Amino acid sequence: MIAPNVLEAFKCTGCGDCCRWSGSVLLTENDIATISAHLGVLDQEFIDHHTRLAPNRIRLALLDKADGSCAFLEGDRCSIYEARPEQCRTFPFAWSVSEGCPVLDELLAAQNNVEQPLRNP
Ligand code: SF4
Ligand code: SF4
Repeated sequence: MIAPNVLEAFKCTGCGDCCRWSGSVLLTENDIATISAHLGVLDQEFIDHHTRLAPNRIRLALLDKADGSCAFLEGDRCSIYEARPEQCRTFPFAWSVSEGCPVLDELLAAQNNVEQPLRNP
C-alpha cells in the first residue's frame, strides 16, 4: 500500500513512459462505450479499427504502434485523455508493472531511504 504522503507528493509529469510499454491496455465494456462516444463512432467500429484480442484471449486491448507504444499516444500525450481506459486512469496507484513510473519510483525510493537508514559498519 502506498503511503498517503507519497500519494500527496506524486505529480505526473506527463512523460508518457507508461503509454510506451509493450503490454496490453485492456478494455472494459464501459471503456469501449466511453471511447466510442468520445470518437463519435459506433462501438463496433471502434472495436474493428482500434482494438485487438489480448493475449489472455478474453479481453480486448487497444492496438499498439510498431514500437509497442499505444496507438492513441501522440508525442507524449494521450489523444483520448478524457476518455482513456480505466487501466490508464488507475495507474500507477492501483497497479503497476516492473518498468514502473519514474516519478513514483523516485518517491518510493526516497521513502525507503528514510525508513531504512544505512547501518553503521
Ligand atoms: S510514467 Fe508516471 S509520470 Fe510518466 S506519464 Fe505515466 S504516470 Fe505520469
Ligand atoms: S489510452 Fe492514452 S493513457 Fe492509455 S496507454 Fe493509450 S495513450 Fe496512454
